[in-house]
Amino acid sequence: MKLLQLLPIGNFDGGLLMELAPALADVFHMPTVILGRRLDPGFAFHQERQQYHSSELLHAMQPYLSPDSWRLLGVTTVDLYIPILTFVFGEAQMGGPCGLVSAHRLRQEFYGLPGDGEVLRQRLLKEAVHELGHTLDLTHCSDYQCAMAPSHAVEWIDLKESLLCEACGARVFAG
Ligand SMILES: [Zn+2]
Ligand SMILES: [Zn+2]
Repeated sequence: MKLLQLLPIGNFDGGLLMELAPALADVFHMPTVILGRRLDPGFAFHQERQQYHSSELLHAMQPYLSPDSWRLLGVTTVDLYIPILTFVFGEAQMGGPCGLVSAHRLRQEFYGLPGDGEVLRQRLLKEAVHELGHTLDLTHCSDYQCAMAPSHAVEWIDLKESLLCEACGARVFAG
C-alpha cells in the first residue's frame, strides 16, 4: 500500500505533526503516517547565513524513501533558505517524490505577535499541500485561494485555502 510519509527533521512538536497527518490524508485521499525515524538537520546549517540549506536537506531525505512511499514530506522548525533567496517556507522536487516544509516563519511569534496554534496549524497545512502539489508536478496557480498560489509572505498564505482549486485538483486526481 502506498503511503504519504511525514519525516520529522530536528526537534519537532509531535502534536503539530499528529494534526497535520490526518489533514493531509483528507486533502490527498492517501493514508498518511509519521515516520518513527528523524533526520538531524545539523549538517545543513550554514554559519554565514545562520540558516539551514533547504536543498541539502531535501537531498538527505532520499535514503528515507521506501518502496511504499507515495510521497515523503519533511517537516521542520528550522529556518530554511536557498542561496538566491532570503528564506523559503519550503521546497520540493518537481514531480516527486520529496518535499520539505518549515514552520519557522509560519509562527506568529516570528513576527512579534502572540502565538496562535490554529493560525500555525492552518499555515503549515497550506504549505504542506503546496509543496506536495509540486511533487505531483503542479506549478504555481493564478487562483489566489488555491494552495498552489505562490506565497512569499504569511499574509499571502492566510488568503489561501488548504485545498487545490478545481483545475489543479483535476490535474492531480484525474484518471
Ligand atoms: Zn511553490
Ligand atoms: Zn490551482
